[in-house]
Amino acid sequence: MKILVINCGSSSLKYQLIDMTDESIMAKGLVERIGIEGARIKHETIGKEKKVTECPIEDHKKALKLVMDSLIDAEYGAIKSLDEIAAVGHRVVHGGESFSKSVIIDEDVMKAIEENVEIAPLHNPPNIMGIRACQKLLPKIKQVVVFDTAYHQTMPDESYIYALPYEYYEKYKVRRYGFHGTSHAYVAHRAAEMLDIDFDKVNLITCHLGNGASLTAIKGGKSIDTSMGFTPLEGLIMGTRSGDLDPAILPYIMQKENLNSDEMNNVLNKNSGVYGISGVSSDFRDIEEAQEKGNKRADLALRAYAHRVRKYIGAYFTELDHVDGIVFTAGLGENSPEMRESICKGLEILGIKIDTQKNNVRGKDTVISADDSKVKVLVIPTNEELMIARDTLKLVK
Ligand code: ADP
Repeated sequence: MKILVINCGSSSLKYQLIDMTDESIMAKGLVERIGIEGARIKHETIGKEKKVTECPIEDHKKALKLVMDSLIDAEYGAIKSLDEIAAVGHRVVHGGESFSKSVIIDEDVMKAIEENVEIAPLHNPPNIMGIRACQKLLPKIKQVVVFDTAYHQTMPDESYIYALPYEYYEKYKVRRYGFHGTSHAYVAHRAAEMLDIDFDKVNLITCHLGNGASLTAIKGGKSIDTSMGFTPLEGLIMGTRSGDLDPAILPYIMQKENLNSDEMNNVLNKNSGVYGISGVSSDFRDIEEAQEKGNKRADLALRAYAHRVRKYIGAYFTELDHVDGIVFTAGLGENSPEMRESICKGLEILGIKIDTQKNNVRGKDTVISADDSKVKVLVIPTNEELMIARDTLKLVK
């Protein structure tokens, strides 16, 4: 069975065709600059030459048409006919309180996703456009939706409620939702396998450290707390996002800098994080390089970043009876031994000790804790596409 996984952003679209008989990737690609000048599709069928086509791509429907054409291209394609695709799995960012699991798409589901646009105005609309376009292009093929928020729907109310007037929750659904759920769930399953513990018994703290970053406390395989909140802005320091701060700073800066709420939101999402502190870049490789050259603000950004992660790990320890493993994943978590070491340095008190040599690893499933560490520390490359494909297969089978 072949499953097509689609991840639609506002101006980009990522896709993978996965053969579920052995979970191997048959083809993958990226459409960039949809609706903007300089649009292109980069397609790769595994084992064949990569193909980059530049052409006007006015909307998501045209983007998906190009994806379909690339998949069945006689020279560069991976399949002979679109009928070979058993189902399509779509990533949708915000399922709100309506979805705690992946679901097969029907009109009721579409309505519920559309209702959640109000709380996810940046993310859900492009996801919806992708689904609508796919329904038109592949009308006979079942479509499934997998939500970033779904895995966190098991959080108890004391984890998700904000200390605001309760009617804001009732009227506006203001509460913690959490994101990166597909990634946290994927690495948690893999960690349970690697530690040889049943998934419904495993206690973990999973650290998704990419451009966006979040931590999740997992008890008996279920998310019981996570650092992102009503939006993906809360929690850790990120590439360009502030994460936690004193809410009183917002009106203060808005007044001082004469900013309206959209402008303030933009500062918090685009000009803050390690980029804001360092002034160097939002890419951790650039900041690590600047730190090595003696840039003090780059050094401060990286220390503040590690400090925030440590603080959350400490907090999540108190929510779990015991911790079987700490998992590092995503761009930085998978690839930066320096950051993992820096985070774990203050955590010996919790029984966390990494082995410097084992930690010298990038992008591969490995245990990096010392033999006498009470808590195992693991590096597990995330694979959200595979998780989406697995869920899709389960639902359509
Ligand atoms: P997203 O999917 O959220 O865009 P990724 O999970 O791809 O993000 O992570 C991107 C981040 O990972 C970038 O900020 C980059 O700096 C960091 N990263 C990737 N490779 C390395 C590396 N070798 N060393 C340090 N940081 C890295």
